[in-house]
Amino acid sequence: MIKIDDRTKEYFEDVLKDVGLIRTINSKEGLEEISEKQGITPKKIGSYENVYVNASPIDIYKYAAPNGDARYCAELSYQTNIDDYNIELHIFNRQPSLDDVRNVRTISDIEFQMQFKGLKPEIKCYECGRTVHFLDTSESFGEVVDRLNEKYCGC
Ligand SMILES: [Zn+2]
Repeated sequence: MIKIDDRTKEYFEDVLKDVGLIRTINSKEGLEEISEKQGITPKKIGSYENVYVNASPIDIYKYAAPNGDARYCAELSYQTNIDDYNIELHIFNRQPSLDDVRNVRTISDIEFQMQFKGLKPEIKCYECGRTVHFLDTSESFGEVVDRLNEKYCGC
């Protein structure tokens, strides 16, 4: 496993904090199945349909943490193998928008690519040949992600 550079790590932490992510859990059980063990009573408050191909809709739940604080959970599931599946639970301290959920998943995907697939934070621009850190290519989260994927410095 390759360590993610401090700058990228801190940037992602800031983005996740901004959207109110507390943690992500990968599980075989959905929130309703684990709620009894956890002593919580989740209520489904919404759903985002047709977001990802080959995945369930994203269901949004609200519940009270044991200390009484409001918690929100975005849940989706998908097959990982012919006879296996994964349920992702993203726990937030405020109600997540669809973009919030997408951004959390995008970050987790980039982290995986960097740790295990050799994706580097420095990109050599296909257009001008400059090598830059992908976070230098724009101020906006959506744009730095696009430029990392496209290997474009924004020139
Ligand atoms: Zn360039």
